[in-house]
Amino acid sequence: MNSKILPKVSKLPLPTDSNRVREILRLLDQDRDLPTLSPVVERVLQRVNDEKVSIRELAEIIKNDVSLSFKILKVVNSAFYGFPRKISTLTQAMVILGLSAVKNLALSMSILEIFVQESMKVKDASGFRVFWERSLFSAVAARRLAILMKHAREEEVFIAALLQDIGILLLIKHMPVEYSQVMEKAQRSASDLTALEEDSFGINHAVLGEFLANKWRLPRTLTIPILRHHNPDVTLEKLDTEDREIYHLAVFVHLSSQISSIFYDEYRHERVLRLKESAARYLKLSAPQIDELLNGLADEVKEVATFFGLPLEGTQNYSELLMAANIALGKINLTYEQMNRELIAAKRRAEELAEQLAEANRKLQEMANVDGLTQVFNRRVFQNLITREFYRSHRYGHPLSCIMIDLDLFKQVNDNEGHLVGDQVLKEVASLLLANLRKTDFLARYGGEEFVVILPEAGTKAATTLAEKLRRVVENSSLDIEGRHIQVTISLGVSTYSQEFPISCEDELVQKADANLYLAKRNGRNRVWTDDNTKALKSASVETPSVMEKAEISS
Ligand code: GH3
Ligand code: MG
Ligand code: MG
Repeated sequence: MNSKILPKVSKLPLPTDSNRVREILRLLDQDRDLPTLSPVVERVLQRVNDEKVSIRELAEIIKNDVSLSFKILKVVNSAFYGFPRKISTLTQAMVILGLSAVKNLALSMSILEIFVQESMKVKDASGFRVFWERSLFSAVAARRLAILMKHAREEEVFIAALLQDIGILLLIKHMPVEYSQVMEKAQRSASDLTALEEDSFGINHAVLGEFLANKWRLPRTLTIPILRHHNPDVTLEKLDTEDREIYHLAVFVHLSSQISSIFYDEYRHERVLRLKESAARYLKLSAPQIDELLNGLADEVKEVATFFGLPLEGTQNYSELLMAANIALGKINLTYEQMNRELIAAKRRAEELAEQLAEANRKLQEMANVDGLTQVFNRRVFQNLITREFYRSHRYGHPLSCIMIDLDLFKQVNDNEGHLVGDQVLKEVASLLLANLRKTDFLARYGGEEFVVILPEAGTKAATTLAEKLRRVVENSSLDIEGRHIQVTISLGVSTYSQEFPISCEDELVQKADANLYLAKRNGRNRVWTDDNTKALKSASVETPSVMEKAEISS
C-alpha cells in the first residue's frame, strides 16, 4: 500500500491538562447554548442504574416527554420488531424489550434529536447531514464488530460510536468556515483528523466530545471510548476487568471510525487495507472477516436510519465502492495484467455477494418473530424473552413462571379429521390461549402442538391458577372448523423461579415445566401439573405403603 498517503500511527490527543485545552474547556463550560440531552433521558440514565428502580417508575419518567414516548412506541411497533400484538403502553414496551434496551433507545433518540436540532441552527446543513449520517454509519459498524466479537455490550458500543464525533459539532458551531477547511483536508490527506484539529484550534474533537459527555453525566463506558477513539492503545496488563471492557469499547469505536472513513473519505482502497491491519492487530480478525463485516453494512445503516425515522442519502454499497477503488488504484500504479486480475477477483466477489444476499434473505425469513400458522411468537423469540426475563428476575428478585402446554392426543385429531383441520385447531387453540392471558404474559409456539407461556412476576400460585383457567377454557370450547365441532383438551406443566425455588438458568426452568407436562400426561392428561402435585403424590405414597411394601410388612 501507499504508506505516504496514510500514516500507521495517529498522533496522541493532547493531554487534557495542557493550559490551552483547559482554557478552551473553561470558556465552553460557560456557553449557555451547548447541546443538552433531553432532561427526561438524563433522569432515565440516573435512575436506570438503581437496582430498585421499577419498570413503572421509568415509564412514568419517560411519559413526561410526550414526543419521546410516542417515538419509542412507534419504533417498538415497527416492522423491525414485528410483534404480533400492538404494544400500546411504555410499560409493555419495557417488559418486552427490557429496561436497558429502552434506556438505550431513548438515549440514541435523544442524541439523534440533538444532531437534527443543531443542523437546523445553521444556514448550510449539508455538512451536518454528512456528520450525522457518518455517525450513524460508525454506530452500526461498531455494533456489528461487537456482535462479531461476542461482546455483551453491543448497544452501548452503538451509542459510544454514535457519540464519538460529537465534539465536531462544537467545532463546526464555533468555527464553521475554518472547520470545513480542516475537514476537507482530512478527507483528502494522510493526517489524522485530531492532529489537524490540534494544529488549527489547539484542541481536538475527542477531548471536546469527552467534555460534553461528562457534562451530560454519561457513564465511563461512554466517556472513555469517546476520548480514546482515535487512540485506543493502552497497556492491557495494567487494567482491571472493567477497564479492559472499556478498552474493548474504545477499540470497536476506533475501528468503526476507520470503517466509516472508507465510505465517506477518499483513498478508499488504502483505508480498507489500513482497517484490515488494525482489525488484525486489535481483534485478530482476518481480512475475509472484515470483508464480510463490510458487506451489506450500507444496507443495514439504511435500515437503522429508517428505524429511527431518518432519511438517508447516498450511502453506497461496499462492493460497489471496492470495485471503484480497485479500478482507481489500477489506473494509478498497476500493470494491465495486475489490473485485470483485480477485476476478475472483484467480479468473483460480486458473484459471491449475490449468493450471500440470497442466503441472508433466507435467514431473514427464519428470523421473523412470528409463527406463520398460529401468529403467536415463535420459538426463537421465546428463547430471547425467557433469557431476558430470567436475568431480570434474578437481578431484581422477582418471581418468574413458565407454563408448557401440549394438546392431548392430537395425532388422533389429525388422523380423524385430516391435517388441514388439525392446522385450524392449532390456530384456534392459540387464539383461545392468547385471549386469556394478561397483557404482560407471552405466548409462543414451542413446536408442533406444543405452546409455552412466560409469566413475568408471577409465583407458583398465580401461574397454577392461570394454567387451570386455560385448561378449562380449552376443555369447554367447541371449535367450529369448516362446520365441524371439534373438542380438544390440553395438558399443562408449570414451573417457577423465585427466591424459594432457586434455579440456575432459564433452560432449567423450561425443562422443569416440560418434566411437569410429562407428569400431567402420565397422570391422565387434561390436567395441570406442578411441583406441589409431585410432592403430594410422594407424601401420599409414603403414608400408604405400596402393595409390595405391604407384603413385606406382613411377612
Ligand atoms: P399426547 O397427548 O401424548 O401429546 O398425544 P399426541 O397425539 O398429541 O402426541 P404425539 O406427539 O404422538 O403427536 C403429536 C401430533 O401432532 C403428531 C403431529 O402430526 C401433530 N402435529 C404437530 N405439528 C402439527 C401441525 O403443525 N399441524 C398439524 N395438523 N399437526 C401437527
Ligand atoms: Mg400432544
Ligand atoms: Mg407432543
